[in-house]
Amino acid sequence: MDPNKTRRQLENLRAQLAARLTRLDRHLHHRDEPLPADANERAIELEGREILEGLDDGATVELSHIDHALARLDAGTYGRCDACGKPIAPARLEALPWATRCIGCAAAAERPGGR
Ligand SMILES: [Zn+2]
Repeated sequence: MDPNKTRRQLENLRAQLAARLTRLDRHLHHRDEPLPADANERAIELEGREILEGLDDGATVELSHIDHALARLDAGTYGRCDACGKPIAPARLEALPWATRCIGCAAAAERPGGR
């Protein structure tokens, strides 16, 4: 793993996400107008806002993952599994640059009741 390459990749992702958030925020704030009087139109409008807010939340969470990964890169713990301390497979890091667990531990954590 090349830490500089990883950092560039994470910083690129971060910039893309930040741009997306700015766009979403602008869109959301633009919609601070009163709701349409018509009940159907109002339902469509509210549904649209909910979808946008969901996207906004998703991007915010992703951004915090990336910040976390960058901090781990600084600390020298990037690419190591939080749970078992073994290196995370490069293919996994490529697919999920902010992964904090190896595939084995991630799968175990997702299995209800399993460890
Ligand atoms: Zn692990």
